Amino acid sequence: MIENVQVMKFGGTSVGDATRIECAADIIAGGARARPTIAVVSAMSGVTNCLITAAHQSASGDENAAGELSDALGRQHRAAIETLARDDDNRAALQSEIDRIIGEVTRLCRGTSMLHELTPRALDAISSAGERLSARLVAESLRGKGIEAVAVEATELIVTDSEHGQAEPLMDKTIERATARLSPLLARGVVPVVTGFIGATVSGVLTTLGRGGSDYSATILGAALDAAEIIIWTDVEGVLTADPRLVPEARTLREISYNEAAELAYFGAKVLHPKTLRPVADAGVPVWIRNSFEPEKLGTKITTHGHPTESGVKAITAISDVTMITVGGRGIVGVPGVAAKAFTATASARANVLLISQSSSQNDICFIVNSVDAARTVGALRAAFALDLVHHHVEYISVNSDIAIVAVVGDKMRGTPGIVGRVFSSLGREEVNIIAIAQGSSEYNISFVVEKGVMRSAVTTVHHEFDLARRGRDIHADEESGLIKA
Ligand code: ADP
Ligand code: ASP
Ligand code: MG
Repeated sequence: MIENVQVMKFGGTSVGDATRIECAADIIAGGARARPTIAVVSAMSGVTNCLITAAHQSASGDENAAGELSDALGRQHRAAIETLARDDDNRAALQSEIDRIIGEVTRLCRGTSMLHELTPRALDAISSAGERLSARLVAESLRGKGIEAVAVEATELIVTDSEHGQAEPLMDKTIERATARLSPLLARGVVPVVTGFIGATVSGVLTTLGRGGSDYSATILGAALDAAEIIIWTDVEGVLTADPRLVPEARTLREISYNEAAELAYFGAKVLHPKTLRPVADAGVPVWIRNSFEPEKLGTKITTHGHPTESGVKAITAISDVTMITVGGRGIVGVPGVAAKAFTATASARANVLLISQSSSQNDICFIVNSVDAARTVGALRAAFALDLVHHHVEYISVNSDIAIVAVVGDKMRGTPGIVGRVFSSLGREEVNIIAIAQGSSEYNISFVVEKGVMRSAVTTVHHEFDLARRGRDIHADEESGLIKA
């Protein structure tokens, strides 16, 4: 086993064009000169969206989608190659690799448009092309800086189940393959530049880990190689007290716990894929979130204990592409097994239930799933409750997508009296109507449901109530005066 390995992951904006790729390569090169380094890269920004759109257009029979995709990808990646390639020979070699991948994905889209069908497996094969392209560009940029680097496809490293679009790693096999492939490279001082987002089944069929999954790739590989730390380079300074797009005065948190970060990610803080911390939390491997646009800044360190604050509240997050499903009717009161039946149905639909709540009338069970899973979940519920609907034990299964979940997150919050009261009285003062409050959520979070239209105001209100912008500033002041050291 190679010691002291670091994994550095770069998101889409951090490899968004040739200039950004050069900056990422400078950061990787600096790291690689000090210790064994694995780079994990996302697709150039916008590319995965383009691929997925083209796949769906093709499935609807649009024959031009494949050609348009090929042109757009060709333009974007050619422009980067012009700047990044060291000389004509390398330029030609890189160009032919890139053309081969674009050719593959174009053919897949053509096939899709002929069949009018897009299987989850084909969608994975198409949507993964962005990472396969960007890894080659980043490796070339590193070689241009005198660092030995090779692009490595994660299909060779991360072994997953066959759940296309949200595959889960099989860690034992991943450890075997990743160690066998990467250790010899690291031992020779070579930087593997690995495609994020992608894995493959035991038999080698490409899978993807879910949107935003390159963060997860980084920690899967970090865990597999027993890494000393993982650095996720992105376009913000770290984990902030709220999404900066919702609350411009949000501040960077210096240190938070795995539980807090996981809770924030789960409830919509896009800065981390929700599963990112799973592979490394038990081993206590520190994960840093840092800004590739301002690499001199420290960023946020995610650790076992975090850095508790007096108020207990660390950050607020919100998620809006969610749907509330309510199973209701007077007949369900006191009837055993209704909840069990409902959740067996959601499980069979493979829907992730984000929040469960009891209605004020207690005549219904209401829960929230991601909107992409809503239709499938309702179908499964209608089937499960078919007889109960006929007999009016269950009177309705209703759906509301005009909602958002807001989560107030912090370790020890539950042990601090008065926080729940402050959250809801501040919202009351601002006349924010609460549709439901979570029941049985973890002790690290208080979550509630509001109409989508008041989500921003709810987040801002709670952020202000707990003075999180000022607390952030204090942390910065402390840091400047040297009180807080990473
Ligand atoms: P990458 O492409 O590097 O993976 P993402 O766009 O997936 O980056 O995630 C970074 C974005 O997450 C930020 O630009 C920010 O808008 C958003 N974000 C949402 N909530 C938070 C938060 N609490 N802290 C930091 N960023 C957040
Ligand atoms: N490129 C993939 C996506 O856009 C994975 C990632 O960026 O993390 O979802
Ligand atoms: Mg991301």
